[in-house]
Amino acid sequence: MSLNVVPPNPGYTPTAAGYGGGSRHPYTPPLSNLVEHFQRLPGIGPKTAQRLAFHILKKPRGDAEAFANALITAKEAIGECEQCYNWSEHSPCEICTSTTRNSSTICVVPHTEDLYALERTGEFTHQYHVLHGLISPLEGLGPDDLRLRELIARCEAQQVDEVILALPPTVEGDTTSLYLARLLKALEMKTTRIAFGLPVGGELDYADTLTITRAIQGRRAV
Ligand SMILES: [Zn+2]
Repeated sequence: MSLNVVPPNPGYTPTAAGYGGGSRHPYTPPLSNLVEHFQRLPGIGPKTAQRLAFHILKKPRGDAEAFANALITAKEAIGECEQCYNWSEHSPCEICTSTTRNSSTICVVPHTEDLYALERTGEFTHQYHVLHGLISPLEGLGPDDLRLRELIARCEAQQVDEVILALPPTVEGDTTSLYLARLLKALEMKTTRIAFGLPVGGELDYADTLTITRAIQGRRAV
């Protein structure tokens, strides 16, 4: 049976509160701090957080520094593209500035993860627009909290033939699709929504590439 105890680093003097301190695990404070930070990440439970923290402790100091630097550099260097709101080091981003992309079709996705899910299929050569969420009264997210106005402005400014709504078949996805469809209809814009193949309530990021490809092919006018 593991007692979850690791020897303190050389030169480290544990205080009375260092072990135990009322917590379930007898982590020494710096370890407790590291585990807590890992546990704040999405999808990371206590056991995985502990495993990651121990992994860091076992690795050379240089690995930990490279990891810490990667976190800071990513936060400092990456921002939203001023055109499509994808996360990128550059603005406009690599997708918006690509000369091989079809800029007359814009695929609207809720999150950047969904953009990458579509890109993984290797089937799409159009541009994107990331809303950074969906209309959700329950979560207090209204149209003004998302990049909806920016999409409409982009459609007015750019030569766009079709807007593909790659929004999930959820209540929030349906609400956002209806809202956007009304606005785009006023611009006489051809608007379609992916439908075929995706499970009801499903998120794009969790779907396999073939399912996403068929969903795009099976899109319908809204
Ligand atoms: Zn962009």
